[in-house]
Amino acid sequence: MQTSRQIFENVQKKISQKERITSDEALALFDFNDLISLGKLANQVRETLHSNKTYYIVNRHIDYSNICAIKCKFCAFARKKGEEGSFEFTIDDIVSRVLQGLKVGITEIHMVGGFHPTHSFDFYLETLRAVKKVAPKLHIKAFTAAEIRYFSKKFRKTEEKVLEELKNAGLDSLPGGGAEIFDPEIRKKICGPKGPAHYWLDTHKRAHALGFKSTATMLYGHIETAQNRVNHMEAIRNLQDESGGFMCFIPLAFNPKGTEFESKGYTSGIDDLKTLAIARIFFDNIKHIKAYWIMSGVEMAQLAQHFGADDLHGTVMEENITHMAGGRAPVMLLEANLHRLIREAGRIPIQRDSLYNTVRSFN
Ligand code: SF4
Repeated sequence: MQTSRQIFENVQKKISQKERITSDEALALFDFNDLISLGKLANQVRETLHSNKTYYIVNRHIDYSNICAIKCKFCAFARKKGEEGSFEFTIDDIVSRVLQGLKVGITEIHMVGGFHPTHSFDFYLETLRAVKKVAPKLHIKAFTAAEIRYFSKKFRKTEEKVLEELKNAGLDSLPGGGAEIFDPEIRKKICGPKGPAHYWLDTHKRAHALGFKSTATMLYGHIETAQNRVNHMEAIRNLQDESGGFMCFIPLAFNPKGTEFESKGYTSGIDDLKTLAIARIFFDNIKHIKAYWIMSGVEMAQLAQHFGADDLHGTVMEENITHMAGGRAPVMLLEANLHRLIREAGRIPIQRDSLYNTVRSFN
């Protein structure tokens, strides 16, 4: 039986020959405790793809409502209608947030919410149209695959129809949320009502077939095992081979407060960096790996630029989902803060758009 060091050395050889690593090799890397060597290898992949650049976007998150028809056990964001802490934005509230964002140059809104029990489908269509009316060039990344599935069931339309109608109203791409962890047993325990993993994968496959780009996430640091993580990444890698629509992979560090898994605590820095590094080494078919500072913390995201990550997400401006779960990062970063985080890591800040085209390079 090979040691994790021997497996790591095989992986090094494969990477230098541009060969794909296996899921068993990825699993063995979770047992490999030489984090610096692992980081160097992930960094080699990252620099081959992106040289010294780190990407970010000037964006605004709009969590349009936390009222949710279901309850996932890992979630501290959702509320029932009328419950203390519940909120829902009107279309005017959303448009006024867009207008505020435009003043600081946002190029994207990232808009998600709970499974709202009473909104009509027209509410979503009208929201998209209202945003496009005041900001025709603004990229709208909205509605997780879980929300799309919910719309399909609630409004008795096929997912294709839901996606097409949203697209015609102004939807540009899909965020990667809602994937959580694909393992059926763990999924039942943390987010059973959301349904099986194939829902998320099928929705992204359909979206890609309709020409949407999207991102992929993995929620880690709760009750899943390393094997569960690798299986999750393998399912995403397989779908990407087929559809090619994922622009980025985003490991999401679990924030526990107010959830049923509060006793698990926060993820460790070593786990955060190792998970990012393994993802960078594993995904030979997804170009970008994002360090999502909202969930991992700003300091960890900065370090992540040497452990495989090439994208620091964005300015965000407002955030509820993670902060209602005890998120310890700020709710926004100024562009100047992002530049400092990138430059201190010895990287070059590149402002990107939602499809990873360069908006401005700060050489
Ligand atoms: S994770 Fe989403 S679907 Fe699940 S309870 Fe929270 S808001 Fe609702």
